[in-house]
Amino acid sequence: MNTYLNGSPQTVLTIYAHADDEVLPAAGTLRLMSQAGWNIRCLILTEGHLSSSSIKGTRHQEAEDAGKIIGANYEFYALEECVFSTQAVIKVTEDAINRWQPDLIITHAPQPEKYGHRDHEVCAIAVSNVATRRNIPLWYSAPPVFLRGFEPNFFVDITEVIEEKIAAIGCYESESSKAFMQLDAILVLSRFWARELGQKDGYFEAFEIARQWVNASFFNALSTQKKYLANQINSD
Ligand SMILES: [Zn+2]
Repeated sequence: MNTYLNGSPQTVLTIYAHADDEVLPAAGTLRLMSQAGWNIRCLILTEGHLSSSSIKGTRHQEAEDAGKIIGANYEFYALEECVFSTQAVIKVTEDAINRWQPDLIITHAPQPEKYGHRDHEVCAIAVSNVATRRNIPLWYSAPPVFLRGFEPNFFVDITEVIEEKIAAIGCYESESSKAFMQLDAILVLSRFWARELGQKDGYFEAFEIARQWVNASFFNALSTQKKYLANQINSD
């Protein structure tokens, strides 16, 4: 098995409860990954029948449109919102891992029950369980609101793709009335993470690395990259 830090072709699998959960916290990072040649697979557990969009086809189309911007392929499951079980998510996750052999999984951050969305919580727990058992690196992305319980330890500078992030979120027109989908909310949170790092400018996305491992070649890859960068600077 690979880890995602050894320089070979990579696949990231995101698993989220609802369409739009993936773009809010991670569209910029996924765009940067696809630009770097990563294979981006977005798995959505539900079709959104309880959400503000009553037509499931709308959600599918919106996700496909967002996928074109961030360079991701989508797959929907029809688990029932607010009642699906951890067992159902475990099965979906196992199937997806077998099909795509991901080097990295990204999902919701587990939160204390009274703060997190029920579906996000069940998804986070089930996916964490499988990733741990299968020894696959795992990141949690930031909750849209109520950050309680989320402890970011990894930040991605998405300044150069902030326009794409906004455009990808904008594809979810059926969700655009939600407060946390508003442009100012997106920019404020992206800037908030920059300030967390002591940066006055720029936009960031925040993750919590829940599980990570590297093989011995990781350190070689780092030193090779360092030498390459030094040569580049010297030749300028
Ligand atoms: Zn959601």
